[in-house]
Amino acid sequence: MDSGRLVVVSGPSGVGKSTVVGRALELTPQAWLSVSVTTRAPRPGEVDGVHYRFVDDATFDAMLQGSEFLEWAEFAGRRYGTPKAQVAWQRGRGRPVVLEIEVAGARQVRQADPSAFLVFIAPPSLAVLSARLQARGTESPDAIARRLAIAERELAAQDAFDQVIVNTDVEQAARALVASLA
Ligand code: 5GP
Repeated sequence: MDSGRLVVVSGPSGVGKSTVVGRALELTPQAWLSVSVTTRAPRPGEVDGVHYRFVDDATFDAMLQGSEFLEWAEFAGRRYGTPKAQVAWQRGRGRPVVLEIEVAGARQVRQADPSAFLVFIAPPSLAVLSARLQARGTESPDAIARRLAIAERELAAQDAFDQVIVNTDVEQAARALVASLA
């Protein structure tokens, strides 16, 4: 059996990555979404082991020491990483695997596995991104400002990606992503 494709979906916080990926996975049930490990606290409604595996710093350090991550990055003062064993296992079963991660992590995946397909989800504009982050209401004004500053840097990196999808309409963006999962 051929190993499943590795598709990395990246783009600034608040761009709607989770919504687009969620819809694309509904349309592609054989694909598997990797569950990241993070040291940030759960948001209301987030479930450990489903949205993330929430760990403390010591556990994250131990995983780093054990070379358990395919990639990892610090984002807005917290650490996030992709456990490599689960990715290898699912790909070994022939399933396309989707990573939903920030841009520095996407670059690491490219280095670790040049066959990975990198998708960048872009907002129609920075103003739209700012409005979405504020409407989401999950971050403090300070955190939103930090995320927007990171977003400006991330937007500059989109040329390094294989495909750029502008998220103006979720359904259209999801269908564009589905085409890359096959
Ligand atoms: P949030 O705190 O909003 O859930 O995530 C913050 C950023 O970290 C988002 O851009 C998200 O895609 C990214 N992220 C989530 N998991 C990982 C991961 O395992 N590795 C990396 N590099 N970024 C991640």
